[in-house]
Amino acid sequence: MRPDGFKVFRNLCFIDGKWMPALDGETIEVTNPATGEALGTAPRCGTKEASLAIAGASRSLAAWRSMTALERGACLHRLHALILENLEELAALLTLEQGKPLAESRDEILQGASYFPWYAEEARRACGQVIPTPARGKRPMTIHQGLGVVGVITPWNFPFAMIPRKAAPALAAGCTVVVKPASQTPYCALALAALAQEAGFPAGVFNVVTGDSSRIGAELTGDPRVRKLSFTGSTEVGKKLMAQCAGTVKRLSLELGGNAPFIVFDDADIEKAVEAALASKFRNAGQTCVSANRILVQNGVYDAFVRRLASKVDGLKPGNGLEPGVILGPLIDSKAVASMEALVADAVACGARVAVGGKRHALGGLFYEPTLLTGVTPSMRVFKEEIFGPVAPVVSFSSEKEAIALANDTNAGLASYVFTRDVGRVWRVSEALEYGMVGVNEVSLAMAEAPFGGFKESGVGREGGHEGLMDYMETKYILMGGIDA
Ligand code: NAP
Repeated sequence: MRPDGFKVFRNLCFIDGKWMPALDGETIEVTNPATGEALGTAPRCGTKEASLAIAGASRSLAAWRSMTALERGACLHRLHALILENLEELAALLTLEQGKPLAESRDEILQGASYFPWYAEEARRACGQVIPTPARGKRPMTIHQGLGVVGVITPWNFPFAMIPRKAAPALAAGCTVVVKPASQTPYCALALAALAQEAGFPAGVFNVVTGDSSRIGAELTGDPRVRKLSFTGSTEVGKKLMAQCAGTVKRLSLELGGNAPFIVFDDADIEKAVEAALASKFRNAGQTCVSANRILVQNGVYDAFVRRLASKVDGLKPGNGLEPGVILGPLIDSKAVASMEALVADAVACGARVAVGGKRHALGGLFYEPTLLTGVTPSMRVFKEEIFGPVAPVVSFSSEKEAIALANDTNAGLASYVFTRDVGRVWRVSEALEYGMVGVNEVSLAMAEAPFGGFKESGVGREGGHEGLMDYMETKYILMGGIDA
C-alpha cells in the first residue's frame, strides 16, 4: 500500500498557511520499516524555512491570543471531529511510516485526538485569582496568559499522538506553534497540518517544518521570538536542547527517556500481572518510553510468573502491521535491531538466560524476535539502559525494601508499575518510587485528563491534565491600588 492517494497525505511543509518545499528543493526519503519500500519524500528544510515558520507564528500570535478561549476551542473541536472522520486513513498512514500494528495506530490517533476537546474546554477554566490583601487599599490578583510562539519537536515512536499532547494545550492557551516531527515519520504531522487547515486555523497558527533537525532545532532554540520549546525524545538530545535554550531563557517541557520498573509482589493477581507485563513491554514493539523495562518479580511467584509470561511471549506474532492478527511490528531502523543484539549479548555474557527469542526474526529486515531474559542482575546493560525494543528482562527480589531499591536505581524516573493486592503496600511503594507516574495494577497511564511526565533525567513539565495547560501559560500578577475612598 502507498499513501499517495490518501486525502490526508501531504509531502510539503505547512508554513504560515502555505504548503511549500524546502527552499533549495532538498528532500528526505521516507520508507516503510516493515517492507523497506519507499513511501515518498518530505522537504529537507533548514534554518531559513524554520525562520519563516517562526515569523508566521509570531505574526499570527496577536490575533490568535486575542480570541476568547471559547473561540479558539471551537477550532480545536473542529480539528478533533476531522481527525475522527479521517481515522482510518490516518491509522494506515501511521502504520505505513512507523510499522506498528493497525489496531495500535487507531488507538494512538484516538488517544492523541482526545487532547483537543479536553484542552478546548480546560482553557475556559484557566482562572486567575483575587488574592486576599495584606494591606488596605490594594488588591493583588493573577491572570494566566499564553506564553507566545512554541517550538515543538517530536519523536518517531508516536508520530501522531506526541503532537496533540503539546500542540493542543499550547493552541488552547493562545500560543502559536511550529512543529518539527521526526524525519523517519513526517507524514502524520503533515496530515495533521492538512486537517488543521481544513478546520479553519488562521494562517501561521499551526506550522509543520520537516528536515534537518540540528538546523531547525538551532532556530527553534535560538530565536528570541520563540518563548517555549516542548520536546519529546532521547535524554541526550533533550539535554542538548536545554543548553541551547539557555541563551534566550526559554520555558521548557522535556519528555525524555524512561527505565520503567514493573514490580510483581507475591500477593499479586499473577494472570493479570502477566497480561499487563506483555501489553506494557511489547506495545509498539517495546519502542515506548513507558515500556516495562525491568520486570522485578518476588521470589515466591518468580517461577510461575516466568513460565506464564514465556508462553505468552512465544505466542506473539511479528509481521507487517497492516496484516490482520499481527501483534508486533518491525523496529524503526537497523540501528535499533543492532542495539537489541548488543543488549542481549551483554546480558548473556553476564549470566542471563534466554527463555524465549534472543535473535533477529526469520522474517528478516527490521524484525527482532520477542525475547524474554531471566536471571537478569543490576550489572547488566538491559537493567541500566532504556531497551526500546521487544526484549523483556526479568529480575528476582525477596523483600519490598529490595524491590524499591532496585526500582529507584536509575537516573530515569518516568513510569513505574506495581502489582499487589495489599492496600498498605500500594501506598508505601507508590510514595517511595522516584517516578512521575505509578500504575497500580494498571499500565495504560497516558490520558488527556492526567499529568504525564517524569522525575530526575526523564524530563521537565507535565503533559495532560490542568498542569499541561499551565505549562503553556504565564502567570501575571496585577496589583490594583487606590481602592480606598
Ligand atoms: P531523538 O533522536 O532524540 O529524536 C527526537 C526528535 O528530536 C526528532 O524529531 C529528531 O529529529 C529531533 N532531533 C534529533 N537531534 C536533534 C537536535 N540536535 N536538535 C533538534 N532536534 C533534534 O529520539 P528518538 O530516538 O527519536 O526517540 C526515542 C527516545 O524518545 C527514547 O529515549 C524515548 O524514551 C523518548 N521518548 C520519550 C517520551 C516521553 O514522553 N517521555 C515519549 C516518547 C519517546 P530527526 O528525526 O530529524 O533527527
